[in-house]
Amino acid sequence: MNFDVVIIGGGLAGLTCGIALQQQGKRCAIVNNGQAAIDFATGSMDLLSRLPNGENVVNFDRAFDALKAQMPTHPYCLIGKSQVIEKAKEFEVLAQKLKLGLLGSVEQNHHRVTPLGGLRATWLSPNSVPTVMANKALSYNSIAILGIEGYHDFQPQLLADNLLQQPQFAQMSIRTGYLRIPELDFLRQQSREFRSVHIAQSLEQNIVFKALIQEIELEAKDVDAVFLPACFGLDSQEFFNRLQDSTSLQLFELPTLPPSLLGGRQHKLLRQRFESLGGTMMNGDRALRAEFEGDRVKQIFTQIHENEPISATHFVLASGSFFSNGLVSEFDDIYEPVFHADMVKTEQFDPTNRFTWTTKRFASAQPYQSAGVVINEHCQLQKCGQKIENLYAVGSVIGGYNAIELGCGSGVAVVSALTVADHILANLAQ
Ligand SMILES: Cc1cc2nc3c(=O)[nH]c(=O)nc-3n(C[C@H](O)[C@H](O)[C@H](O)COP(=O)(O)OP(=O)(O)OC[C@H]3O[C@@H](n4cnc5c(N)ncnc54)[C@H](O)[C@@H]3O)c2cc1C
Repeated sequence: MNFDVVIIGGGLAGLTCGIALQQQGKRCAIVNNGQAAIDFATGSMDLLSRLPNGENVVNFDRAFDALKAQMPTHPYCLIGKSQVIEKAKEFEVLAQKLKLGLLGSVEQNHHRVTPLGGLRATWLSPNSVPTVMANKALSYNSIAILGIEGYHDFQPQLLADNLLQQPQFAQMSIRTGYLRIPELDFLRQQSREFRSVHIAQSLEQNIVFKALIQEIELEAKDVDAVFLPACFGLDSQEFFNRLQDSTSLQLFELPTLPPSLLGGRQHKLLRQRFESLGGTMMNGDRALRAEFEGDRVKQIFTQIHENEPISATHFVLASGSFFSNGLVSEFDDIYEPVFHADMVKTEQFDPTNRFTWTTKRFASAQPYQSAGVVINEHCQLQKCGQKIENLYAVGSVIGGYNAIELGCGSGVAVVSALTVADHILANLAQ
């Protein structure tokens, strides 16, 4: 098997890179082992929400110099400000083409409502979730937050109490209530199965649509807007849109505690797009090791193709962080298991010294969360201090930054993916 590009990992980063390459007629394969972070994510995509010193970011362009001064190892600082902004804008266009239904712009962060009723700065959000700009109040006077009876991953009262602490919601009248949906009774008997995915599945199969609308209208009474848990519509937003069209109420959906359906829906659209462009998806397979020839990767071996290596002109590592086994930790080492690429080492964090992996305060940002591989400005990887010409890293396998602390996980994924696609396309054209 021979391809122009083989990508290891089919999450947000791998698929974005694969789509950009397929769109230009390159032959790509994605070797993908399992679920990705996006399957659990909120649906909102952060470019940069905070600086390392804790300051909130409103505009990426204006915040960049401070980021560079405070954290020069951040992949954005290696890729460069103008390239990051260009690729972020390119993703906004791609997202529109893919009909991801995302609102927002690189010009200014907005705030999204978290599953616990906080507000978090973000770059792009699904058009079905409530968002607020900086200090502006939401344009509704009254809202109802409605949960689903027996479903614990969405707590209307907690959400309401926390939202009322936010200046943008403080003047609002917020009511809470629960939808009684008899079609879900069989799930209630096995409470561990009572999750957003199962609720959405059973509603699509069983729902008496009219009864659900009546229940929402009964509980909402005469409010201006209704916040529902994102449990309506498994594969797409279509079911939620139908609910919206069938009532005069303004409905919004909120991400639930993970897994949240909003990210899963995006994942499906990205995968469909890659495949419809002719990309080869090798699902359920795991890249195990690689064979090198000088400063290039020659081929990789996978679990299914252990005796029939896959070769390509370029390879992209998009295998994610610990969450997806893109990084592995043992007692005294954190490493990247496929290529054994060089890992980022800083004054605060050394992957071979476990005493540097955590801080004493449980709730603080933990140094191990910035673990990952070393890249250069083109996102090329290095091994034993040597650059590997045809091997790149994209997304959360890259080290030198903490995506949870800074709010930049999806941004790094798509910006690095489109940067790598550009570099590969230029190289293949030579
Ligand atoms: C609960 C949750 C909420 C989040 N919320 C937000 C948010 O609000 N905003 C935001 O910006 N970001 C958020 N993120 C982070 C964001 O989703 C990730 O940063 C981003 O999706 C990372 O994408 P990735 O493609 O780099 O990695 P991943 O999504 O981890 O994908 C890596 C893929 O590679 C596969 N893989 C690994 N090793 C191999 C191998 N050897 N062979 C084959 N396949 C392999 C894995 O199975 C996986 O499918 C959230 C993440 C989580 C988990």
